[in-house]
Amino acid sequence: MLLRIENLSKTYPNGTRALDDVSLAIPQGMFGLLGPNGAGKSTLMRILATLQEPDAGSAFLGELSPGAGQGIDVLRDKEALRRTLGYLPQEFGVYPKVSAEDLLDHFAVLKGITGRDERRRLVDALLEQTNLQRDRGKQLGGFSGGMRQRFGIAVALLGNPRLIIVDEPTAGLDPEERVRFLNLLAELGQNSIVILSTHIVDDVSELCSRVAIIDRGRIRLEDDPQAAVTRMQGRIWRRVVARDELPRHQERYAVLSTKLLAGRTVVRVLAPERPEAGYEPAEPGLEDVYFAAMRETHAADAALFAADAKAAAPAFGPAGGAA
Ligand code: ADP
Repeated sequence: MLLRIENLSKTYPNGTRALDDVSLAIPQGMFGLLGPNGAGKSTLMRILATLQEPDAGSAFLGELSPGAGQGIDVLRDKEALRRTLGYLPQEFGVYPKVSAEDLLDHFAVLKGITGRDERRRLVDALLEQTNLQRDRGKQLGGFSGGMRQRFGIAVALLGNPRLIIVDEPTAGLDPEERVRFLNLLAELGQNSIVILSTHIVDDVSELCSRVAIIDRGRIRLEDDPQAAVTRMQGRIWRRVVARDELPRHQERYAVLSTKLLAGRTVVRVLAPERPEAGYEPAEPGLEDVYFAAMRETHAADAALFAADAKAAAPAFGPAGGAA
């Protein structure tokens, strides 16, 4: 399976450019779409889930084998896509007074599974898979955040989807629930494409086989997370600095992050060699990759802005000042 996304762009009526020429190749497995709030993740997820139209671009879901054709045209053949899609949106409502088992059964009927026995087997299997067996009779209103998310996945899995899209699913989960939920997604990734959108770096560092970093509607990096981290080897430097020294370091070096540690500030810098005495080599992590990608983005944007400002400068020059 491969989901090919080509040159997707989307500008909202108010002028916000949410997606700017996005292209991605998403293979089977768990794919992390990582970016800050407002980066364009939900817009991309909704377009792939056929809930929203892009202004331009295309997306195809198909087999990898030669001669398999180009697959399902996601934007045109919405019905076909929906039959193989499981989508867990950022927010979803449940009927608080209904039990997990009854609501899942109800959704199964809506999916067209009318045979009672077949439905019972399916509901059992899904509750088992999402580890909700013991809570099957409980009202959904009493579910914890993690239980709710797992129930959402059970619903999303009803049609046996090959493409599973989950939008910011770990927000608000406690650490144990989060790990359990991510493990469930990784398991699903063994047979399907699972796209996990998140702003949490740790969500993607261990379980995703691929990651894309998105910021301001553009893909800034697409890679195997481990490979991206390995490429940072030898280029991350760490130093504890006094608070009033921080501005000097920020001015002089490519500071990726600053963290308070027992009242002191720990700075991480990206540099080909030791920036100055006092910096120690540090083991890179995906967070460094993420901040480096963001940094490059902002530097490029600043350069572009400067160039734009220069080009526009005569308009702001002193009246009649031009030669
Ligand atoms: P993310 O999911 O990464 O937080 P979104 O796709 O929700 O990002 O939003 C991307 C950008 O588009 C943001 O600037 C957001 O404010 C804007 N946006 C999202 N939905 C709409 C909308 N319906 N109308 C106008 N702007 C929107």
